[in-house]
Amino acid sequence: MIDTYRTQTCGDLRRDHVGQTVVLLGWIHRVRDLGGLIFFDLRDRHGLTQVIVRAGSALSDVAARLRPEFVVAVRGEVEARSAETVNPKLATGEVEVVASALEILNEAKTPPFPINEDAPVSEETRLRFRYLDLRRPAVQRNLILRHRVTLAARRYFDEQGFVEIETPILTRSTPEGARDYLVPSRVHPGEFFALPQSPQIFKQILMIAGMDRYVQIVRCFRDEDLRADRQPEFTQIDVEISFATEALVFEIVEGAVKTMFAEGGVVVATPFPRLTFDEAMLKYGSDKPDLRPGMEIADVSDQFRESPFSVFRDAIAQGGAVRGFVARGAASYSRKDLDGLTEQARQLGASGLIWVRRASGALQSSALKAAGDAPLAAAFDAAGGKEGDLLLLAAGPAALIAPVLGQLRLTVARRQQLLSPADFRFVWVTDFPLFEWSAGEQRWDPMHHPFTSPRLDDIPLLTSDPGQARARAYDLALNGSEIAGGSIRIHRADVQRQVFRLLGISDEQAKARFGFFLDALEYGTPPHGGIAFGVDRIVALLAGEASIREVIAFPKTAQAVDLMAGAPSPVDERQLRELGISVTKSFTAKDTKDTKEKG
Ligand code: ASP
Repeated sequence: MIDTYRTQTCGDLRRDHVGQTVVLLGWIHRVRDLGGLIFFDLRDRHGLTQVIVRAGSALSDVAARLRPEFVVAVRGEVEARSAETVNPKLATGEVEVVASALEILNEAKTPPFPINEDAPVSEETRLRFRYLDLRRPAVQRNLILRHRVTLAARRYFDEQGFVEIETPILTRSTPEGARDYLVPSRVHPGEFFALPQSPQIFKQILMIAGMDRYVQIVRCFRDEDLRADRQPEFTQIDVEISFATEALVFEIVEGAVKTMFAEGGVVVATPFPRLTFDEAMLKYGSDKPDLRPGMEIADVSDQFRESPFSVFRDAIAQGGAVRGFVARGAASYSRKDLDGLTEQARQLGASGLIWVRRASGALQSSALKAAGDAPLAAAFDAAGGKEGDLLLLAAGPAALIAPVLGQLRLTVARRQQLLSPADFRFVWVTDFPLFEWSAGEQRWDPMHHPFTSPRLDDIPLLTSDPGQARARAYDLALNGSEIAGGSIRIHRADVQRQVFRLLGISDEQAKARFGFFLDALEYGTPPHGGIAFGVDRIVALLAGEASIREVIAFPKTAQAVDLMAGAPSPVDERQLRELGISVTKSFTAKDTKDTKEKG
């Protein structure tokens, strides 16, 4: 029996250890039998070490039984590898362990996919056998990065005077715009807890309670419609600050981002650039703009006010615009490429797409005849086009063509390979509208959540023109993803009531749903504000992963299912009876469809 106390991990051994007797424990990564001489790589989370069992050794019989994923203990002497067998790719590649004792601690069935190679495996299989998938070094690296990022964030916020405070998981509905997950109460039959969509109300109450600076790395739950890269439970770094101004929040957040990204080896320059929501929509067609490709969208309406081309002229006359962006070096796009982009524009709701390019000194355009050479050339120049470039133009109401051009911009950027995952471009987006009109419900919905303060000079608009009121809200975007979002809050009970009323929540309803919070607001509430970071997305971006599932140990599928644990699942009749619940079988797709989606 080997003393199963390891002297080193499988990632530790170096040339300095040559001559020492060591004990290593781990999994068999790979075995090679060279006619009696058996090599195997032993693996743990720290690395791989090559072990040798010499031909004719007393251990040969045990070694011959080894298969991938067996758990073994090895004792042996560290030897230097000869120059030609050194493996520069392995941290332990200069040495190997010559086994003097070998013990199989546990056998393993043949895994459904190899752990020792990066062969493509369906995500379904990976998630079903997540305990095996998590043995793969790439996934382990992501989880370790996640640990380092959150640890660094905790230290940073502590240094900045923040206190981490836990808030309830079993609570009441918090309005973040999604459906709640409900938990029936057995002791209060017919009553339900809601899982928090965020700790929003609690963190504001902590400010009222004088805690000054709150932080929490916290799980949030939102029962939203299924989307490819969304998780029903996700992790936020949730922050709230008393006596906050936008400038103070930005400074604290920028410091946190610097600290977290340093863990991924990324040096972040601050302060971050800022765009208002209106600027972001006009220049990038998105409220979470990706700044990497440049390619700002320009307004070229001035060239077409008197245009003979009715598509342009009418759009402008009806209060719309002609806007577009230049794709560098894209004059060489084929007819098929241009047709593809036009089709995408149509599918996104635009009436069409006009292209203009300059190649070999000549201007070409899909609207050359209709719009005329001179105005198109002027528009091309005004948008910054040069020889070899392509200008893509859309005409129509500004709000309609902005997101269309925004999407096309990203399609072209992807094609032109302008979206390097190693390039990190942060941008604050501020001055969001406070409300958005819900045509379905015929009422205003909050663009963030109902506790967001209007800009002070916009408070009168709450009565006269709510759609024009701007919010003291801010999002931090990175490479086209929103990685944090928050606001300065309403701290006056009267303004809060007024906002509830605009959202169609009567005083009675507000009292029933948020009475405790409205009461609390009346007892000396400091001005305050905060933000929440999306940990999953931040770590995914740092790890260079497209999906947040790659940085979550036990994620759910895009269908909101935990394939390994088999959740959700039916429960026993008896459990239902205790809860006073009976399951009706009459569900239809309509019953479970979201009426509203939050971006
Ligand atoms: N509770 C907000 C959210 O989860 C963040 C905030 O306003 O601080 O999006």
